Amino acid sequence: MAAFPQQAAVLSFEDARHVVEEHAFEVPPWGVEGIDLLSALGRVLALPIAADRDFPPFRRAMRDGYAVRAADLAQLPATLEVVGEVKAGADPADIPKEVKQGQAVAIMTGAPTPAGADAVLMVEYTTLQANRVTVTRAVAAGDNIVPVGSEARQGQVLLEQGTRLDYSAIAVMASVGKQHNVPVYRRPRIAILSTGDEIVDVNEVPGPTQIRNSNSYSLAAQVTDAGGDPRLLGIARDQVESLRALIAKGLGFDLLLLTGGVSMGKYDLVEQVLVEFGAEFFFTGAQIQPGRPVVFGRARGKYFFALPGNPVSTMVTFELFARPMIDGLSGMRPSRLVFLHARLKSEVKTKTGLKRFLPGKLSGEFEDCEVDLSGWHGSGDVAGTARANCYIVIPPDRERIAAGEWVAVMKR
Ligand code: AMP
Ligand code: MG
Repeated sequence: MAAFPQQAAVLSFEDARHVVEEHAFEVPPWGVEGIDLLSALGRVLALPIAADRDFPPFRRAMRDGYAVRAADLAQLPATLEVVGEVKAGADPADIPKEVKQGQAVAIMTGAPTPAGADAVLMVEYTTLQANRVTVTRAVAAGDNIVPVGSEARQGQVLLEQGTRLDYSAIAVMASVGKQHNVPVYRRPRIAILSTGDEIVDVNEVPGPTQIRNSNSYSLAAQVTDAGGDPRLLGIARDQVESLRALIAKGLGFDLLLLTGGVSMGKYDLVEQVLVEFGAEFFFTGAQIQPGRPVVFGRARGKYFFALPGNPVSTMVTFELFARPMIDGLSGMRPSRLVFLHARLKSEVKTKTGLKRFLPGKLSGEFEDCEVDLSGWHGSGDVAGTARANCYIVIPPDRERIAAGEWVAVMKR
């Protein structure tokens, strides 16, 4: 029997996360492709995107009202002569050449401000009679006008390479006319391998002591959500030969995710087989619950995570450790974990020593968030976890947290 990992180490949650992040910073993405803008949500930019012209390209009015000279409104009320109108999208030939002293030009939001005017006065502060507008409020030069190039100059980088495209980045791409051939990194191919003699696939009828494979499917969903391309390798038996064959296959992908077989049981053989592949282990456990036996390493030049098989442990350890690596393989810096804070609805009692990420239910409205740990029956409870919508973070040094205390919450 091969030896257990020599470099084995159980790290604190924070140290384990940092170890993953360090590797994720270094790992290269594997290719670039051009895709349509409408498919680009969640993809990672492979090239910077620059402004194709000044933003805005003209002095844009921010309000409906009148383009005026601010100095004309030093004494109030003031009356100005309305000498024209500019609509958004106005033909340049139709824009009044100049707003002269004592004059105003009616202007609409998004229209170019005519020369001579240095402010836009909101229509709400005016009354119009025939072609004369009476003004009851002063404006300062520059009010309600966005200067040419104030948002960005032509050629300026608007989106850096390595940006994951969210809807606001999509807006930027549309603004610069990038409809096709958006340069993005290819999605990393993530092999998913479940292990266990008791596990049968979803299309099979489980025997009395068998369990349907849920981990491959929850992981595939998490991988997709993280921007990866999940490849299901099926279920390895708790036997060296079965594990060997499927692990060899899995190490042909960009990342291998295993579940199960990393606890202390007699048939938990995953690490032992990984050793045969020359694996180096960066950690073989983290002081967390659920998910303590989580393993991170590299073999044949490929990273792998061996995640504990309890369904909730698999889910949590993916979020805490595998996701940042998928960020790295996708061509971006690993994104930060973001925590909300909420008041605990009812008391939580735990043992000290492990940082806990417990399925909870976030409720309440607006800034008034409450979170509750009710109705969850441990790391195997898939249904209870599906009823939850977040993970409550319990620090390792707390035995009891009272109702009403603030706790950190990781949103799902
Ligand atoms: P293990 O980490 O292999 O000791 O498994 C821990 C628990 O998770 C056991 O109760 C397994 O039956 C269960 N389990 C392991 N793999 C899966 C899977 N792919 N789908 C659902 N449950 C699993
Ligand atoms: Mg097992």
